[in-house]
Amino acid sequence: MTWRATVLTLFPEMFPGPLGVSLAGKALASGIWELEARDIRASATDKHRSVDDTPAGGGPGMVLRADILAAAIDATNAPASLPRLLMSPRGRPLTQSRVRELATGPGALMICGRFEGVDQRVIEARRLEEVSIGDYVLSGGEIAAMALIDACVRLLPGVMGRPESGTEESFSEALLEYPQYTRPQTFEGRPIPEILTSGDHARVTAWRRAEAEALTRDRRPDLWAVRQKPPKNTTEG
Ligand code: SAH
Repeated sequence: MTWRATVLTLFPEMFPGPLGVSLAGKALASGIWELEARDIRASATDKHRSVDDTPAGGGPGMVLRADILAAAIDATNAPASLPRLLMSPRGRPLTQSRVRELATGPGALMICGRFEGVDQRVIEARRLEEVSIGDYVLSGGEIAAMALIDACVRLLPGVMGRPESGTEESFSEALLEYPQYTRPQTFEGRPIPEILTSGDHARVTAWRRAEAEALTRDRRPDLWAVRQKPPKNTTEG
């Protein structure tokens, strides 16, 4: 079944953008997934096609209107069961386990904010799930939606050369990935770690495991703590 990404944006011309090349681009061309970028402005009703207005209560910037955004959402005819994600720095941070869930479903409807954000009432009335891609503020939700789509698409069957490459990498076990090496054998005086060229698979596996654990402990004490004491259902990052 084709995985469907529907994106509501004020800048549909930004899509597919980087999603049109490499793994995601080939998968898009071969029909493994579909992308529809819809212009929120098409749901504007006044003659200036305005979509935003000043914030109630004052303050800087502009806010996307609830009525316009609701009309844009309704016009997609997305089934109620389809995840409706509002890209938002206030959202729950995106994780690889949520990505995996989304990738096994039928797709997602993603809404890209701009300006100061969107009117709270449409978030409630259309039951939008706010999703953040990290603790920093982008100027719009498009790049966040692209990051989410990219992370999902690479997990779809037939997209990656070897399905295992999705299970051994960072976060699959709340561990960061071990360091990778390839030719040349020596680069600026630095050889590839001897174990990796020994042909001893058990030693390679043990070495990679130890490196992954050391990296995780050092860089991501938050992930490491989860590994040491896994609470129910959250063993994955
Ligand atoms: N004033 C808002 C930020 C608005 S940024 C606040 O402080 O919360 C404009 C839009 O960019 C947002 O509506 C959202 O769609 C998107 N955006 C910004 N940062 C994001 C992030 N970290 N993750 C996901 N979307 C983000």
